[in-house]
Amino acid sequence: VETKTIEAVNGVKIPQLGFGVYKIKKKEEFEMSIREAIRVGFRHFDTAKIYGNEKALGTAIEKSQIPREKFFITSKVWNTDHGYKATKNAFEQTCKKLNVKYLDMYLIHFASPHYLETWKAMEELYMEGRIKVIGVANFEIQHLENIMKHSEIAPMINQIETHPEFPQNELHDYLKNHHILHEAWGPLGQGNKALLEHPDLKTIAHEHQKTVAQIILRWHLQRGIIIIPKSSNPQRIKENSDIFDFVLTHEEMGKISQLNTGRRYSIKPTGYMINP
Ligand code: NAD
Repeated sequence: VETKTIEAVNGVKIPQLGFGVYKIKKKEEFEMSIREAIRVGFRHFDTAKIYGNEKALGTAIEKSQIPREKFFITSKVWNTDHGYKATKNAFEQTCKKLNVKYLDMYLIHFASPHYLETWKAMEELYMEGRIKVIGVANFEIQHLENIMKHSEIAPMINQIETHPEFPQNELHDYLKNHHILHEAWGPLGQGNKALLEHPDLKTIAHEHQKTVAQIILRWHLQRGIIIIPKSSNPQRIKENSDIFDFVLTHEEMGKISQLNTGRRYSIKPTGYMINP
């Protein structure tokens, strides 16, 4: 895969296309998916403590025999680990499970209470070189404003639900204006048929001899968004990596942006949930 990178505000290069590992449940399926993803060129992996597969991901990465530094590994602080000390502990546990000494990216999973103290711990870990990029997920403008007002370092990235039905236009502009990167979770609308079989997307896909999934992923790339599509199907894993050899026209980008229905999948927009 041709891997494009996007620079965080501190100059760290993030592969714009990564691989999400949420809900790949069975052990064999997980191992096969990561092996296939690495084989077709994915090096950026997105996990979280709550996904319960940090250890499996670490093992799969080691099995590849590709040096750890070639990978870009993200994990997240879960809601029950908020606060200064708990976050430091959670970080060490995550590193232990992944069997790494540093994380490329560490995110606050949700803006649960005490996220300011959580952030303080993350700032320190960043200053110590244990985390290359620190950021948040599912944060709204009010949370970002609050964290920037009370902290030394601003979040470098916000991972939020984003897809053509929920393009996050307002937050996208806000992030851009504040030099915070936009990362999409659920970039394919979590595989929703209404999106993946949309006639307008099919037309564009036909035009480029690509699949609808590839068209959607390409739309994200051209918006400057980092994406982490998930799949445990080898053919789709390959397909999702093959999105760097064509360009959507301005008109096509506009057409896709018109698919905005406001439909979102996150349970609670403001994001505090103790159980996923
Ligand atoms: P997604 O949009 O990546 O959709 C994945 C689903 O789309 C697959 O299960 C499959 O059904 C379908 N799919 C994948 N590739 C396809 C293809 N080429 N053709 C047709 N269908 C295809 O949704 P996601 O997994 O929820 O999000 C991606 C990643 O984002 C997760 O794995 C996880 O790492 C992360 N995530 C983060 C949060 C958060 O709160 N920060 C929440 C959800 C997910």
